[in-house]
Amino acid sequence: MLKIEKHRLVGDKVTHRDTPNVGGALAPRFLVFHYTAGRSAASSVESLCTRKPSGNASAHIVLGRDGAIVQLAPFNVVTWHAGQSQWNGLVGLNQYSIGIEMDNAGPMNRVGTNFVAWFGKTYPENEVMLAEHKNGGGVRGWHAYTEAQIERALELAQLLAEEYGLQDIVGHDDIAPGRKQDPGPAFPLGSIRTRSLGRDHDTAPRYEVTASSLNIRKGPDASFEPVAPALKKGTVVMLLEQGNRWSKVEVDGPTDIEGWVNNAFIQKLPDAAPRGLVAPKTAPKRAPASRAAPKKPAAETRSRRK
Ligand SMILES: [Zn+2]
Repeated sequence: MLKIEKHRLVGDKVTHRDTPNVGGALAPRFLVFHYTAGRSAASSVESLCTRKPSGNASAHIVLGRDGAIVQLAPFNVVTWHAGQSQWNGLVGLNQYSIGIEMDNAGPMNRVGTNFVAWFGKTYPENEVMLAEHKNGGGVRGWHAYTEAQIERALELAQLLAEEYGLQDIVGHDDIAPGRKQDPGPAFPLGSIRTRSLGRDHDTAPRYEVTASSLNIRKGPDASFEPVAPALKKGTVVMLLEQGNRWSKVEVDGPTDIEGWVNNAFIQKLPDAAPRGLVAPKTAPKRAPASRAAPKKPAAETRSRRK
């Protein structure tokens, strides 16, 4: 179990190393997830604790592939992870956010049956996920996150959301979309966000399946395998992450089915009345435009894809 004492994490597999790359006081409102695009957690910690002539970077946490955490600065101090960025009308998110860097090599190029990161290290196919980034760019390989890392990321997000009453949990690719791709499509940001902010089943937008049978897939493209039997007409799903043509949804009910469906075959339901469950400490902000409901497909798309 993790806890926070005086803005520092305490718990299993948590160590501390203070980086000199810090700014002034921080009252965190957001959590920003990143990948390191590096070789190892240790090399990233080293880099984020070093003063460089070319410009200094840091983050609050480096999360290793084994789930180990190194905290580089207390959560009430600004670190330098976001760069030029904006969210909810605010500019320069370092001043408002906690940054978590996850050890992950980032995008990959295929070479034969293997994949190669930008720094030349080769990774086997089973450590790589094929997907298109939600900001576009076509299907390519992305270094997969480990289960230990994803569990720990969720635990951190829930703890930080509770402790600081966070307004939102975002990716670097949300706050600097033209410039950044991390944490990318291999990271389940949508479900971590909804599970940490207490707006899942009660406040996530709900959609109904309109096709007689709708495939729910591992990724945002018809080339991905289905994750479960096809959904029947009338099945209710919660929107976790919205893309241009495909959206990530969770099936309503006592299952754990999550996957991607084609936007053309789901239709938004009226917002459910609040059920009076525990509200988040801070009222959720209006969803920004990038997370707005999927647009209705063009008529020809609908008929062609039928
Ligand atoms: Zn980043």
